[in-house]
Amino acid sequence: MCIGCQKRAFQKELIRLQKEKGQIVLYSGEGRSFYLCRVCLQGNRHISKIIAGRMKIDKSSVEALLKELSSNVKD
Ligand SMILES: [Zn+2]
Repeated sequence: MCIGCQKRAFQKELIRLQKEKGQIVLYSGEGRSFYLCRVCLQGNRHISKIIAGRMKIDKSSVEALLKELSSNVKD
């Protein structure tokens, strides 16, 4: 389930992430992870705010990650 929009999606459509040292990073293989769908990944400040709130993390780091991922992740 996507942390941003709460929708269920196929795993291949989800990006697996984790919180590490106060930052959100791509899942490294261990630790607690969560998913973000492609719609939210391409999303907006509203989504960043939701994620920041849920993960108790700084919103600017979420925005930076989303920006980076959306330019890297291809369909
Ligand atoms: Zn979503």
